[in-house]
Amino acid sequence: VKVTTVVTGPFQENSYLVQDDTTGDAALVDPGADAPGLIDAIRRSGATLRAIWLTHAHVDHIGAIAEVQRVWDAPVHLHAADLPLYRNGAAQAAHFGLTFDQPRDPDVLLEDNLTLLLGQLRFVVLHSPGHSPGHVVIHGEGVAFVGDCLFSGSVGRTDLPLSNAAELRQSLSRITALPATTRVLPGHGPATTIGKELQTNPFLVDRATAEYR
Ligand SMILES: [Zn+2]
Ligand SMILES: [Zn+2]
Repeated sequence: VKVTTVVTGPFQENSYLVQDDTTGDAALVDPGADAPGLIDAIRRSGATLRAIWLTHAHVDHIGAIAEVQRVWDAPVHLHAADLPLYRNGAAQAAHFGLTFDQPRDPDVLLEDNLTLLLGQLRFVVLHSPGHSPGHVVIHGEGVAFVGDCLFSGSVGRTDLPLSNAAELRQSLSRITALPATTRVLPGHGPATTIGKELQTNPFLVDRATAEYR
């Protein structure tokens, strides 16, 4: 699987272009901002955009959808529990003094264990609430798009209006049960692996000790 990272906007959000090199099909994960940069990256890839996958609907992950869809009318995939955030993109943006281009409602609603096919690639949805109620991790082909659940050396915020710390802890237990070699691609900051985070992430080391004791 080929994954290209594009860092977007004032929140330095990671948008990922996932590509099946054999068929030329691509999906765009979390087009947060900088639509022209994303459109350029997709054009340069030579791939055909088939889908937009959202880990969650915070404004820094959805701000470029409308503009990208004017070039490729790709279906947006989102968990239903994040629809209120998605439909409130303008209000979220105004909070930070930013403008927002509201896209139409999502085309596909994600659920736990749903399979997403992209060319010959296969991914699975893991509902991972906590940072937001409809947060999902999309994993397969040795990679996991973990959004704002898990970062290199940190975990997602739970002090936001719809966040829930207990739910995030449960979600992290499920995420860290993925194979240790899984390449973790977070919504912000550098990539890492499940194994490295279990050994070094201060928010997870207690869990690792409990498992390996
Ligand atoms: Zn977020
Ligand atoms: Zn974010």
